Amino acid sequence: MPMMQWETLILETVQLGGSIVFVEDKAPKDLSAWMMPFQSLFLGEIPFVKRRAQDLLSGRLQTSFQDLVILFSEQDEILTKLNSVLQGQRLLLSPDAVTEKNPLIDFIWSGCDLKTWTEALQRLHVSWSQASAIEDYQGSHQGPCLFLDRDDVVVKNVPYNRDPSLVELMPGIDGLMKKAHAQGFWVALVTNQSGLGRGWIPWTDYQKVHQKMLSLLAEKGCWIDECVWAGFYEKEPVPQGRQYAGLRKPRTGMFQLVNAKLKVNMAKSVMVGDSASDLIAAFGAGVGRLYLLSSEKLEKEQKDLLQFQLKNPSFQFAVAKDFSQVQI
Ligand SMILES: [Mg+2]
Repeated sequence: MPMMQWETLILETVQLGGSIVFVEDKAPKDLSAWMMPFQSLFLGEIPFVKRRAQDLLSGRLQTSFQDLVILFSEQDEILTKLNSVLQGQRLLLSPDAVTEKNPLIDFIWSGCDLKTWTEALQRLHVSWSQASAIEDYQGSHQGPCLFLDRDDVVVKNVPYNRDPSLVELMPGIDGLMKKAHAQGFWVALVTNQSGLGRGWIPWTDYQKVHQKMLSLLAEKGCWIDECVWAGFYEKEPVPQGRQYAGLRKPRTGMFQLVNAKLKVNMAKSVMVGDSASDLIAAFGAGVGRLYLLSSEKLEKEQKDLLQFQLKNPSFQFAVAKDFSQVQI
């Protein structure tokens, strides 16, 4: 049975990692009946929540951009109040035909009463298990990317550097970037910066150091297409730390962030790092070619990688004495 537009909308919300959000304020008295099918039919397979305006406005609770917020005509005023804090798309359910355009609403389901709604969710329940992955969700560019670690790859490592005057480019990095761009690669920076999570580098200092690096690159006619950093430090169980935990190499989060934006062909991509965790993260993300750049710690990192290789026989890497040994 082909799915109707509204069923697809709900399904895709879940596939994108979002929740169905109901707002309690000024909702119809039978709101729990509107929420009921999610509980009785899907038994937790479709995440749904009920939120109060005061919790969203105070920041105590949040919505996310993958969410689908269900609204009713009576909630017109409350939507205006919540607009700045309500992320995600908004679907208005109205038993009547709605002709008036509201820029704060993305979708209007005219002629939707409780019966129509329940029937649609019953239909979705039938087709639910046959649903396939969202097609072409990752986009179609699929260019390869040169992923670079920052410290001792793009710039010389100055531990927990807060001083832009100490920023110095690694010799030859400009040549590698130019080559990558000329070959149709993206260039992306993926860097662990636990100094941010530890509170040792204030954001404003990080920004200055970061911008100095980019300005030195610019002087050489180079640029980086996407820069991401993981400020997380594992011994800091603070909300920010938890939010960023998956970004810190050897986890793959930063590569996924770059991929979400640049639409990368991971298999044809290249990673250059000076730490074992750089290459292990890249391998986890599916990056095809991995280079361990020679540094003072080469021996230790190489040992760690060979250890990793024992459990992951498909893991392959090469040591590059300098950037001229990186094949693009
Ligand atoms: Mg490094």
